[in-house]
Amino acid sequence: MRYFLYFFIIFLISAQNFVQAANIIYPNSESTTIDSDITFFIGNEKYGRNLTINSEPVKIHESGGFLHVVKLEPGQNNFKIKDNDSTMIYTIYRPDKKISQSVQPLIYKNSISYVVVKNNIPLRSTPYDYGLNRLQHFYKGVQLNVIGESGNFYKVKLARDDFGWINKAFVKKNDSNDISAAKITSFSYDDIPPKNIYHIKLNKKVPYILSERVSYNWNSDKTKLIPYFNGLDLVIYNVSGYPENKYEYFINGRNFPLKGYKSYYTADNELIIELVKSQINTKEPLKGLIITLDPGHGGKEYGTTGCLGNKEKDINLEFALKLKKALENKGAIVFLTRNDDSEVPLYDRVKISQNNHSDIFISIHNNALPDSSADKENLGTSVYYYSLISKRLAQTLLNNLTGKLGMNNDGLRQRSFAVLRNTESLCVLLELGYLIKPEDSVKLIDPEFQNKAAEVIAHSLEEYYSGILE
Ligand SMILES: [Zn+2]
Repeated sequence: MRYFLYFFIIFLISAQNFVQAANIIYPNSESTTIDSDITFFIGNEKYGRNLTINSEPVKIHESGGFLHVVKLEPGQNNFKIKDNDSTMIYTIYRPDKKISQSVQPLIYKNSISYVVVKNNIPLRSTPYDYGLNRLQHFYKGVQLNVIGESGNFYKVKLARDDFGWINKAFVKKNDSNDISAAKITSFSYDDIPPKNIYHIKLNKKVPYILSERVSYNWNSDKTKLIPYFNGLDLVIYNVSGYPENKYEYFINGRNFPLKGYKSYYTADNELIIELVKSQINTKEPLKGLIITLDPGHGGKEYGTTGCLGNKEKDINLEFALKLKKALENKGAIVFLTRNDDSEVPLYDRVKISQNNHSDIFISIHNNALPDSSADKENLGTSVYYYSLISKRLAQTLLNNLTGKLGMNNDGLRQRSFAVLRNTESLCVLLELGYLIKPEDSVKLIDPEFQNKAAEVIAHSLEEYYSGILE
């Protein structure tokens, strides 16, 4: 009887082992198409077991997570995934390269007047939808002189040598075909703390570009030039009475810490530029500060899935709730763009932050890599910003998350993400770590690590505000 029990237990253990095949998180289907020359298998397996993919051994992290890079040939690729006692076959199809047709630009004989039909339409420096080529976002009713086209874009003449490109879908022909220059009828300025407001009245809505002026300072040992926000350059195009019909004005922004700025046309053709200064309580810089936290993804949008099976949307929310507490402990007023597993569109996240009159907006994410970067050894924290006014905050966060928290430094980057393009507050996006990498994911899902990271971020915001008062 005793021997029987003994054998029975052995049988149970081996039966359990038999069903415990490696858990493949990515690719998320056994048969899939990936347009890249490399990809990876991400998943988990009991530490210490043997796992091979096409006979190559897979390195399993002590947390159980693994990430294994494979090459893809054009056509069908088969992968045999074998552990101690099971075998799985994955088939990945890589499409052959298509030859892209080049588009010939077309230049018209005469300018044609078009009008913008929607709000928030980007004017671009090149005829492509590409992040950082945005010159300005236009409001409905702005009149443009179009002088040509290329693919899906019209070429907009701004001044003699200044051009931009606008997507054909967001403009229509102006019935009056009036391409004449506009007139500036008045200019006034209000200083109503914490706001500086410029009013420029015109007789019609013409294109303008408001851009951040970058200046440079030497670092302390004079080895590197550090860019900083010096102010805003405003150029209004197609206005009479100025050289090349170009009205230029510089708004100095260097002498006060700026929380944000915005520009828009009113219904009666008044161009408004609003700058808002940061109001800082020197003893307790976070007291009364309005902060909107944005846990990335939610609902059907999972974000990335970690090697241990955790969904990014859940980790982002878990962490945002801890960060909210840490910031509230220092007196901040904190809002979330989502409190639960709901789906929130990107522009709604921006609207929520604007409606809260946020001083700071922090979008919280965890990273992955695209297939084509499967072999990159990136690890750790990266911080993103768009406007130069947010760069110093982004840098402070990165310094502390790497220095005090010990995350690997994955870089500071300027990117044109929808949630970052809002210039009405300081805006940063955190990729705390790579959920797909075993070394990072084991930290990111640990509540103790999350609490520590929240403390480090709260401290970073204090450091940022004390720094800008110097
Ligand atoms: Zn994300």
